[in-house]
Amino acid sequence: MMKMIIPSNQRSLEIDLSENLLKTNEQLARENRSLLDRHGIFAVDILGSVGSGKTTLVQQLVLKLKSRRRIASIAGDLTTTIDADRIRSAGADVVQINTGGECHLDANIVGQALGKMDLAALDILLIENVGNLICPAEFPVGAHRRMVVVSTSEGPYMVVKHPYIFMDAGVLAVNKKDLAGIMEVDIEKLKQDALAVKPGMKVVFTNGRTGEGVDDLIAALELPEA
Ligand code: MG
Ligand code: ZN
Repeated sequence: MMKMIIPSNQRSLEIDLSENLLKTNEQLARENRSLLDRHGIFAVDILGSVGSGKTTLVQQLVLKLKSRRRIASIAGDLTTTIDADRIRSAGADVVQINTGGECHLDANIVGQALGKMDLAALDILLIENVGNLICPAEFPVGAHRRMVVVSTSEGPYMVVKHPYIFMDAGVLAVNKKDLAGIMEVDIEKLKQDALAVKPGMKVVFTNGRTGEGVDDLIAALELPEA
């Protein structure tokens, strides 16, 4: 969120507004969750920086799962439809959300997207959040599972520098594992970093380009039985 410089006698006002915003978001997230549950839809909130490989992994998940499950996606992006087009080409319905300047999806936006979807015709919803690892941590959208994607191309410190995003996450995909050597990134160390923040987190190593590790990712997501 943008921070404004305000006189000190108004500071508490800003904090109250911010708390209200987060509380309202949490209430709307609960409403999204119960709407999803009523329709038997399992939703995954997918977080990761721009270029980490979120869309590529969503494409791979759609390709692997679409014969057994009815899948749709919500693609959050500042301004483009690139991701939505890619996911659609893999065979899933997509609702594109252009957030304008907003750097995360929130429960209100996701709720509006749900209103545009045929929920009776869905089993799995993959929500690709806007590409950053900071503020989405504070804005649950009502998903059942949070999955974080960190790429070896982002260097060795992505996990230790973004602890908050991992606290509510169930799954970490360490992506572009084929580049680990060239990037001199120790993927086992990334795994240990994640487990230090969130014991019990499922960590999988993937290569979204080839599909390697995507079966492990599907297992880690613990999707409900078809
Ligand atoms: Mg993307
Ligand atoms: Zn944001």
